[in-house]
Amino acid sequence: MGLTIGVDIGGTKVAAGVVDQDGRIVEHRLRPTPAENPELVADTIAQVVKELAEGHEIEAVGLGAAGFVDETRSIVRFAPNLAWREEPLQKKVSDLVGLPVVVENDANAMAWAEARFGAGRGESHVVCVTVGTGIGGGIVLDGSLYRGRWGMGAELGHMQVIPDGRPCGCGNLGCWEQYASGNALVAEARLNAEADPASAARLLEIAGGTPGDVEGPEVTDAAREGDPASLAAFASMAEWIGRGLSDLAAVLDPGCFILGGGVSRAADLWIDRARESFAANLTGRGHRPLADIRLAELGASAGLVGAADLARRR
Ligand SMILES: [Zn+2]
Repeated sequence: MGLTIGVDIGGTKVAAGVVDQDGRIVEHRLRPTPAENPELVADTIAQVVKELAEGHEIEAVGLGAAGFVDETRSIVRFAPNLAWREEPLQKKVSDLVGLPVVVENDANAMAWAEARFGAGRGESHVVCVTVGTGIGGGIVLDGSLYRGRWGMGAELGHMQVIPDGRPCGCGNLGCWEQYASGNALVAEARLNAEADPASAARLLEIAGGTPGDVEGPEVTDAAREGDPASLAAFASMAEWIGRGLSDLAAVLDPGCFILGGGVSRAADLWIDRARESFAANLTGRGHRPLADIRLAELGASAGLVGAADLARRR
C-alpha cells in the first residue's frame, strides 16, 4: 500500500523510482533524456513509469522538472535545459500512463524529500539551498511545501544582493548565485589568479597556467593543498552563502537550513565560514535561537523521492 512513482527529469538523465510512504526507493531506473524533443521526453517518462508500474500497485506519479512549473502542478512554463515552453506535461504523461500525475519543480521536490526524510526530519520550518553551478531552493513552512501564488516561489538564487553587480543568466544583475555558487567560486578563483598569480601558483599549475581555464574541481584540489587564491575563493563564497542565509532567516525564520548540491561535497572547505557569516549577519542576533545549518543527506535521489511523496499528497 501507498506506493508512488517519482521521476526526476534532468537535462541529461531521467531517474525514476517506486517509492514507499517512508521515502524508501523500492525499485529504480535510469535513462538518458532526449532533451531536444518534448514529445520524446514525455514518451521516455511514460515508458519508464509503465515499466516500474508492472508488479507494483501504484497510486500516482510525481514528476520533478528543472524549470518554472505552474501553480496547478500541470504545466512547465519554461525550462532552461530542456525544450519545454508552456509544456502540458501533466496531461501528456497521465494520458500515456493512465495514472494521476503531478509536476513539481525539481528543487522543491528535493527540499521536500530532505525535510521529510533527510536532514530536516522532524523540523516543520526548513529552507533547502542547493549550491551547484547556480543556487536552487525550496521552502517548507509549517510542514507544507511553499510554492507561491503562481508556483514560482523559492527562486532563492535570484535575490539581488549587489546593486548592478555581476550579470546573471536570468537577465538581472547582482543575483545571490553570482556570489555564492560553484560558478561564483570559479569566477572568484580566476579573478584572484589574474590579480595575483603568485598566490595562485598551485592552482595555475593544476589548471594548465591560464586563469581563464580554471574549473571548480581544480579550485577544490588546490584549496586542499593550501593554495591561497583558492582558499580565498572558498572564503568569499562561504561569506556570501552565510549572508544570504541570514537574509532568508530574517524573512522566514526556519528551524534549519539544509545545504545540498555539488559544492556541498566539498563542504569541509567552507561550511564553518558560512556558519560564522550567518551568525554574524543575522538580524536580532544574540536575542534569538540560531537556525541549524546542515548538509543534505539524500544525495542524488532526493528529487525523485520528493516528487513521489508530493504525488501521494496531491
Ligand atoms: Zn539571477
